[in-house]
Amino acid sequence: MNSKLDLIYEGKAKKIFAHEDSDKVIIEFKDDATAFNALKKAKFEGKGELNCLISSKIFEFLIKNKIPTHYLGLKNNNSMIAQKINIIPLEVVLRNIAYGSLCKQTTIQPGLVLEPPLIDIYLKNDNLNDPLLTKDRIKLLKIINNEDLEYISDMTLRINKLLKEFFYNIKLNLVDFKLEFGYTSKGQIVLGDEISPDNCRLWDLNQNNGTIVSLDKDRFRNDLGGFIEAYSEINKRINNFI
Ligand code: UDP
Repeated sequence: MNSKLDLIYEGKAKKIFAHEDSDKVIIEFKDDATAFNALKKAKFEGKGELNCLISSKIFEFLIKNKIPTHYLGLKNNNSMIAQKINIIPLEVVLRNIAYGSLCKQTTIQPGLVLEPPLIDIYLKNDNLNDPLLTKDRIKLLKIINNEDLEYISDMTLRINKLLKEFFYNIKLNLVDFKLEFGYTSKGQIVLGDEISPDNCRLWDLNQNNGTIVSLDKDRFRNDLGGFIEAYSEINKRINNFI
């Protein structure tokens, strides 16, 4: 990485650097893995590169399908160039199958198919542990107006349709995922952040006995082992498909 670039922000999994064009940024993917709001931490060599490559392929697929995103192109294997956006401090989770926090916080059984899919919106705030919001709380917080919230929800449903099929083609079941959106300097809402096994639950459909084989961050969360192998497998399947 060019040492002259100014670091604008460092998050848990990525660093954001300034670009010579002030409307763009460079996003570098780190090898760090965190879970449970960074209570659990580890480093996996090659994770940054895999997430960057997987994300870039998914952004390219979404852009081809008319989803506006911040993605502009790869800079190298572990960094991408993106439009600079003002991130909306909401984590938009879409669930096709009940799992994770939904089942911990309610009596809903893991594995229940959610039709239509469920959208859960959380406040992006590590100090508060990303609390689940309600429509009224979002209004009260004045984070976003109703029209933009509807737009983001509709876009999330469209993205889900596209991604479900994309992953189905490479024998993966898209259980749930988290998206972040932001405003460009022109005020357009675009998809930001990343789409990778760090923020999607992906179950292997190559299992014929009905067992759940996670090829995502649950391997780290639940100490299942084979973490990098799972991410590499996803990257390999995407590359063989495209
Ligand atoms: N997720 C994420 N970042 C978060 C919380 C959740 O990317 O801070 C993703 C997670 O990987 C999963 C989906 O959102 O694909 C739903 O996660 P859930 O609410 O079930 O939380 P978990 O129990 O995984 O912490």
